[in-house]
Amino acid sequence: MNSNLPPLPLTDGCLLIDNSMLEGLVTCPSITEFSKLHTRIGAATKPSLDFGTIIHAALEYRYKNAKDKPMTATQIAEQGQIITDFFDKNPVDEFEHRNVNFALEVINRYNRRWQVEPFNVLIDTKGQVMCEVPLAIELFTTQYNSSPLKVIFTGKIDLPVEWDSKITIIDNKTSSMFFGPQRFLDEQRWSNQYRGYCWAFEKATGKTVEAFCINGICTKQPPMKPKQGIDQWWNEWMVRDIVHLALTPDWRKEWFDSTTMLVDQFLWYYEKGYFPPLGKFTRACENYGGCQYRDVCSQPPEKRTEILNGFLYKQNTWSPLH
Ligand code: SF4
Repeated sequence: MNSNLPPLPLTDGCLLIDNSMLEGLVTCPSITEFSKLHTRIGAATKPSLDFGTIIHAALEYRYKNAKDKPMTATQIAEQGQIITDFFDKNPVDEFEHRNVNFALEVINRYNRRWQVEPFNVLIDTKGQVMCEVPLAIELFTTQYNSSPLKVIFTGKIDLPVEWDSKITIIDNKTSSMFFGPQRFLDEQRWSNQYRGYCWAFEKATGKTVEAFCINGICTKQPPMKPKQGIDQWWNEWMVRDIVHLALTPDWRKEWFDSTTMLVDQFLWYYEKGYFPPLGKFTRACENYGGCQYRDVCSQPPEKRTEILNGFLYKQNTWSPLH
């Protein structure tokens, strides 16, 4: 047992939670302990994360400026400059394919694939396009140390739109889609992350969300000579899938009950003073290229704090609110 956990991270007396915390808790409670309580994450740059960040920024530029219309030549040039500037500040290894040229190729392919959008962007009360919208919504009040504790659900919504007269939450997902586009979409559509964004958007705006859309953007290097030709290859790996929430009418209650239960589970682990390394039961340690905390968990428990505070890890400053 580890009774030397850091203080519970509270903001104005409230516990802020987000999807990454919930996902970490379900995958392996130790991930939540290391990333949220000790606020330590792997120090090595992750090309996949950097690549996702810049593609999100490029899409934000597109939808805030071109809205749902095709981009102008000036906008395309400015979008490209955002990408070039990012890689100047965040260079990648010589052999990393997710470099500046690949990012420019991906975004050019994306702009061509989805040149004319089938939806209308939403405009907020200040006349701005709703894009990369940070949200912090009160989830519930639970009991902690025999006192009430307010829990706030936080997140950032990529692009809420009106699609066929239905409010639809679009989430941009960069992925190498290991097992192909269809398998990627089949896996993603179950994710509670999207339902959480739909729930939060409804609470923030009072509008009913009727669907979410996974906007899959491939980060895998194309083959040298794809059988179907390079243009068709890119088209097949830039995929979208709309999930209509009316098909699962209980989604709000199910998401809310699951999420509040998980928060109580988090606090239960915290009160016990122990976030067990359950990833060793589920083989999460080796999933998707390996958990970033393997260097910690491979050590005896008494050495783990030292490793976590060492050069292999850095401060976790990520928040969906900025
Ligand atoms: S290495 Fe395994 S046990 Fe350790 S935090 Fe990651 S998933 Fe959990």
